[in-house]
Amino acid sequence: MSDLQKFDLGPLRVYVVPTLFDNYSYLLEFEGGLAVVDPPDAERILEVCEALRLKPTHILNTHAHEDHTAGNAALRQATGCRVLGPGGVPIPEVDETFTDGDVLPLGPAQCRVMATPGHTRADHSLLFEGAVFTGDTLFVSGCGRLFECDAPTMWKSLMRLRELPDDTLVFCGHEYAEENLDFALSLLPDDPALRARREEVRALRAEGQPAVPSKIGTEKAANLFLRADDPAIRAAIGHEVADAAAVFGDLRARRNLF
Ligand SMILES: [Zn+2]
Repeated sequence: MSDLQKFDLGPLRVYVVPTLFDNYSYLLEFEGGLAVVDPPDAERILEVCEALRLKPTHILNTHAHEDHTAGNAALRQATGCRVLGPGGVPIPEVDETFTDGDVLPLGPAQCRVMATPGHTRADHSLLFEGAVFTGDTLFVSGCGRLFECDAPTMWKSLMRLRELPDDTLVFCGHEYAEENLDFALSLLPDDPALRARREEVRALRAEGQPAVPSKIGTEKAANLFLRADDPAIRAAIGHEVADAAAVFGDLRARRNLF
């Protein structure tokens, strides 16, 4: 498992675990425990943990979709770990629910819960010192589909994420970076930030590396969905007078058809 990407963030060590077809789970190692973010495949997580000699103590789910939660039951049964997830939605085997503003103590690491509805009504992002786990809300150069909420709701959530410090690492739920950048460049073919970012992402993917983590600062420049209030984007889609949430909604609808 030495090929897994890992990142040291003070009290937290993050391992990136590609799983299923294009999902990412994450192992967050802290003193005294290990939290698994969004495990759809318990076997895969157990195999990785065994190789790293780690044992899950917590599962953290960003939202209820099966490709983020299907591993909860088997992982909990195998390890006795506690399952934490958003309230009011069917999270398998959940022990403790959380809501916006909650602070989850994970040893010396602290996780601040941010409600970021849009993809579903109960999506939450998990914020640590220097890193945010955004599930299917913010992707590298993209954002999640609007399954249960309207465009203004998602736009507001993305704005909350955009306000985080620029150097905050962004770990998201799926590897869609190349398609997202191809889409963005279909609308703004000459945008220098998008072009440069596509080269970076292509180089990573050509080597079989994940495009995560990104950074909030990078996303502010190279994610169209965070730039819905950018006049260049309004002009590109012929919405000079629309408000940012409407521009965002149009971008998201176009991405669905891309
Ligand atoms: Zn989802």
